[in-house]
Amino acid sequence: MPFQANCELGAVDLYDAQGLLIERITLIGDHHSLAIDLAHLVPRLLACPCRTVILHHSHPSGRAEPSEADIAATRAVAGLLRLFGMQLHDHVIVGAQARFSFRGEGLI
Ligand SMILES: [Zn+2]
Repeated sequence: MPFQANCELGAVDLYDAQGLLIERITLIGDHHSLAIDLAHLVPRLLACPCRTVILHHSHPSGRAEPSEADIAATRAVAGLLRLFGMQLHDHVIVGAQARFSFRGEGLI
C-alpha cells in the first residue's frame, strides 16, 4: 500500500472463523479522508462467513496518526460489526515511517 499516493488508499479485509482471508474490499478516498460506504459493505459482510474484519489504509501525508474521520469511521464500523456478531480486530494506518494500530493503542 503506497503512502506516496496523493489520496488515501485502503482496504477492508474479511476473515472467516479460522482466520482465513475471504475477501478484500478496496477503498479509495481523497487527499485527507477515506470513505467507507456502509451500504456497500453490509451486503458483502452478510454474503460470506465473515467473523473478523481488519481495516487498513495509508496516509499520503506520511503521518500515521488517525484523523477525526478515521476515529469516527473506526467506531462506526466496530459498532456495526458487533450488531452482526463480528469483530473489528484492528484498524491500521500506514504512514511513511510508522504505523498506527487502533488495537495497539487500546482504542478497540
Ligand atoms: Zn486516515
